[in-house]
Amino acid sequence: MDIISVMDDSLSNKIAAGEVVERPSSIVKELVENSIDAESTSIEIALEEAGLTSIRVTDNGKGMSRHDAVLAFERHATSKISNERDLFRIRTLGFRGEALASIASVSKISLWTSDGETEGTEVQIEGGVILKESDAAFRKGTDMTVAQLFYNTPARLKYMKTIQTELGHTIDLVNRLALSHPHIAFKLSHHSQTILQTSGNGDQQRVLNDIYGPAVARKMVPFNGENADFKVNGYVTLPEMTRASKNYMTHIVNGRWVKSYASNDAVLNGLHTYLPIGRYPVAVINVETDPFLTDVNVHPAKQHIRLSKEGELLSLIKSSVHEAVKRAIIVPDAIKKD
Ligand code: ADP
Ligand code: MG
Repeated sequence: MDIISVMDDSLSNKIAAGEVVERPSSIVKELVENSIDAESTSIEIALEEAGLTSIRVTDNGKGMSRHDAVLAFERHATSKISNERDLFRIRTLGFRGEALASIASVSKISLWTSDGETEGTEVQIEGGVILKESDAAFRKGTDMTVAQLFYNTPARLKYMKTIQTELGHTIDLVNRLALSHPHIAFKLSHHSQTILQTSGNGDQQRVLNDIYGPAVARKMVPFNGENADFKVNGYVTLPEMTRASKNYMTHIVNGRWVKSYASNDAVLNGLHTYLPIGRYPVAVINVETDPFLTDVNVHPAKQHIRLSKEGELLSLIKSSVHEAVKRAIIVPDAIKKD
């Protein structure tokens, strides 16, 4: 007896959503990464009820044609890669072509977009079903609102924590995205109250100042280093300005914020003799390398990557951080004043 059938798109999108769309901050991540990939210079994120009621992301990027604005919600629809060769040279944050399909399957989305060539498009989509698709006057860019998240997946909705917890996840995320993209002006607000605003003038130390405050930013020293395959630079706080958690270290590889225990350890090893026990620095570590050496296709959320020659990178991070802090301690003038 034949008992196997291929599931329909609506069901497979909901299953995929289980991996990509864990909580409101996961949606903010996917939408903002799309805005970054669209070469926006200004991105605004407005939340209601920490995003559970509504997440609105407005950008001034490339926008979409009417055809693309509808196709964007199809699974595996992407403008970012088109063949296997591209998969090994990814420079964009997205490439899987499944975020919007997944998000649309568990929420109600309103989209306004224009590529600047045609008038503009409005799309309304609910639980993955397109309810409206029409011409609508809109300037170049994209404005997407994701409302009533998980309205049709009650188990996931129940799993949401308090507003404060969910908001905390999103603030942390936007902080890291802003640090990764100092050339983009970010604004995050909750119930119309501004939580973070960056200037987009390209100065990463200024973003550190916006996020962690001047007292921390002033105690940070720049570091940099280079070997055959990697360039690293960033800022790290002096041993007198530490935190009780490792959560204040941000690793950025080719513009992508990644989580890496190994890089955390490399920074800590670089500070080994200076740090008090149980204390950790505030740091941002930027890594530039040939995308060919990176594999970002590890998990749908794209927060972990695999690196060829990782050992070489880790020792470069360790020595660069160590040298910079040692120099600053010996010659206090090396501390950059802002
Ligand atoms: P991916 O980012 O992996 O390509 P998504 O489902 O996130 O997949 O988005 C699908 C496509 O929709 C993108 O490849 C892009 O072409 C388009 N898109 C999504 N958001 C935006 C945006 N803010 N501006 C311009 N194009 C966008
Ligand atoms: Mg995407």
